[in-house]
Amino acid sequence: MDYEEKRIGLVENLTKRAILTKPSVIKAMLKVPRHEFLPKGAIESAYIDSPLSIGMGQTISAPHMNAMMCELLDLTEGEKVLEIGTGSGYHAALCAELVAPKHSKNPGHVYTIERHQELANEAEESLINTGYGDAVTVIRGDGTLGYPEEAPYDKILVTASSPKKVPPPLKEQLRDQGILCIPAGSIEWGQDLYIVSKIGKKFEYKKITGVRFVPLIGEWGFPE
Ligand code: SAM
Repeated sequence: MDYEEKRIGLVENLTKRAILTKPSVIKAMLKVPRHEFLPKGAIESAYIDSPLSIGMGQTISAPHMNAMMCELLDLTEGEKVLEIGTGSGYHAALCAELVAPKHSKNPGHVYTIERHQELANEAEESLINTGYGDAVTVIRGDGTLGYPEEAPYDKILVTASSPKKVPPPLKEQLRDQGILCIPAGSIEWGQDLYIVSKIGKKFEYKKITGVRFVPLIGEWGFPE
């Protein structure tokens, strides 16, 4: 069975489970080759719905979590997105497929921050090799500080678990009417995924489901 067939099988499974519902997200998940973002030893497991190790003690999230976050954020062509936690670069590629599809007349952009230099380099290479190099900018550093240079963002996604609901710099860098998706809680006792909407100076929080992510480490995250 080739990778495309396996990818179609995964998408069918996520659709049956009603995790994937939006045609645009289904199309993106069918298009982005998850196996090209994985270390050699993990490639054969690329289309199993499971998180996988990507080195440096970090993981690529399970595909159902990528799908769920993309659906919740309602990513749309032309938007400017900030991702905290590049990891393998796969989720950034999915976001790029949604906000800056090929031949778009109004392409958006994805800025993604990774604290591990080695992962950032590998992710950048995978993004270039899969054709997402122009739509995604990989930044090395502490994502809890955001990336003020390109703020405000239409959408922000955090793919590591925060001790606070939202690091204050990210709140500031989200545009009015913008949406942020973040796992938050304790490392030992588990976390919840939140959708946060900014309305003027107010923030509305909606708890979505229990989750388990690696910790967000940085100035507004957990200590190293
Ligand atoms: N989105 C990723 C993907 O598609 O592979 C998976 C992300 S992985 C679950 C979480 C990532 O967040 C790890 O690579 C970790 O090094 C990174 N991370 C943790 N704290 C961070 C911080 N303060 N700034 C940037 N990256 C951080």
